[in-house]
Amino acid sequence: MKTISIKHFKFFAKQERLETLNRVAVLHNIWDTKLLTGATGCTREQALEFMMLLFHLGVAVPTLAVYHICDYDAIVAFRSFGEGFPKLPWVCPECEEYVTDEDELTYDFRFSLMTQVEFTS
Ligand SMILES: [Zn+2]
Repeated sequence: MKTISIKHFKFFAKQERLETLNRVAVLHNIWDTKLLTGATGCTREQALEFMMLLFHLGVAVPTLAVYHICDYDAIVAFRSFGEGFPKLPWVCPECEEYVTDEDELTYDFRFSLMTQVEFTS
């Protein structure tokens, strides 16, 4: 168990949201912006900034989730932080089409928690 002070993150440091974050941390090992925005009402930017803090503290590892226009709701590929964005042309593993236009792809980050964490203000 690692205890992390988030008093500098004013949005999340409020008691009610802090409790929500700690519940999310108990229930989920993999975090993404949808999870955090849905649970706490934060913006996508706040969620990303917060998860990047967890990465810098060495408790979370980011993965790039790739979406293709063939299915907006399904992740078609995962890439490590080091691999970065796919280089075009790129074959979508889901529909096996050649992707030549950057606009066909969208991305999100997922962060895997590497240890049990508890947040304090
Ligand atoms: Zn596809």
